[in-house]
Amino acid sequence: MKAQPFQFIDLPRRMPRELDVAVRVVGWQEIYGHYEAPQAAEQSARCLDCGNPYCEWKCPVHNYIPNWLTLVREGRLFEAAELAHETNPLPEICGRVCPQDRLCEGACTLNTGFESVTIGSIEKYIVDEAFKQGWRPDLSNVRATGKRVAVIGAGPAGLACADRLVRAGIEAHVFDRHPQIGGLLTFGIPPFKLEKSVMLTRRGVLEAMGVRFHLGIDIGRDIAFETLLRDFDAVFVGTGAYTAVDGRLPGQELPGVTPALPFLIANAHRILAPEAIPDPMLDLAGKRIIVLGGGDTAMDCVRTSIRLGAAEVSCVYRRGEANMPGSRREVKNARDEGVRFLFDRPPLAIEGGARVRGVRVGIGGGEEVLAADVVIIAFGFRPSPASWLAEHGIALREQGHVRIDGGLPYQTSNPRVFAGGDNVRGADLVVTAVHDGRDAGVAIAKMLLA
Ligand code: SF4
Repeated sequence: MKAQPFQFIDLPRRMPRELDVAVRVVGWQEIYGHYEAPQAAEQSARCLDCGNPYCEWKCPVHNYIPNWLTLVREGRLFEAAELAHETNPLPEICGRVCPQDRLCEGACTLNTGFESVTIGSIEKYIVDEAFKQGWRPDLSNVRATGKRVAVIGAGPAGLACADRLVRAGIEAHVFDRHPQIGGLLTFGIPPFKLEKSVMLTRRGVLEAMGVRFHLGIDIGRDIAFETLLRDFDAVFVGTGAYTAVDGRLPGQELPGVTPALPFLIANAHRILAPEAIPDPMLDLAGKRIIVLGGGDTAMDCVRTSIRLGAAEVSCVYRRGEANMPGSRREVKNARDEGVRFLFDRPPLAIEGGARVRGVRVGIGGGEEVLAADVVIIAFGFRPSPASWLAEHGIALREQGHVRIDGGLPYQTSNPRVFAGGDNVRGADLVVTAVHDGRDAGVAIAKMLLA
């Protein structure tokens, strides 16, 4: 397709097909479909090539967005996939789960007067389609260096780090306590945003690149951290942020109240192993659910509750809609699926006796009690540092975040240990974890190969 500088005037923004609400709420499929090549080329051609790509700057990994849009427009799919991987080790995942309206697409010049280019969907198209057609990262020029690095955590930071290490000829051994790779990508983010098969494909790609996974292994319990320090030239710690922020609400310990992550993780396990005994936490059929919080995790919880057959699902947020920290698209999707939003209602206490009966909230100058059978708390997460970090002289901040002021990028106070992602920043986006893992991998390679 030829460049048509004013394509965006005649051609509106079109997302890939979206599943009907009636279909999506009874299953776990991703709600957005895939572009075919002509649609992807058309939507890519809407890019103005404005010369000042704010989208690139707003993207945390600084993807070469206008350049890969041009390649898609010209049908040069494999080159686009190559270029997408230069900046982003997990492009098909970020294309699905990034809050694009706050990042690349929010910064697109077309946003003033026209709708932005569908950057995330095109990023997803490039990699899904290239994989389907047989493209794989080309490591044929990489020479083995004999160096070995242990990566703790197979979430986005660990995977991005491992990608950069093997590209530098360094053996990357990734350890994770879960039976599958992905961390929260597999066990936290629900499949209607990211189907589990996407992670399985990525696992195959990484393994073919030489990454070795050691799953179901808990460092500190199954293998001592000491052993990793002895057997590897360096260690990257990407263990995420799993401790729920404590809202200190009276009554939060009542039966029927649960933090968001265990709820989402239990559901992911159920989907991965449907034959297992179902967790009673997931028995929401016919019940009234209140989710406290307004971020993307809260949206994952409300939309999961709908799919588990809840009779009524409400998102209760202490501030107004404009202050919600997550993706606007996710709020819209939740609303379309039947979630009720109650704003400006700070939660004051969980009410109940033998089990939860409702949530007392502030409203205007007064108070009210909202009835609920189950309350899910999504106030955010902070790191849960393993004891072996401090035991090996790795300095932490007060709240348990790993300090990375060792001199090199992402280097901790132990010069052979690096860290990045949520255990350093606190809970943040997938793409920021990818950024950290990527750059930590590069820094480790530089140190080992100097
Ligand atoms: Fe946009 Fe995220 Fe892709 Fe960057 S990584 S281009 S922010 S979707």
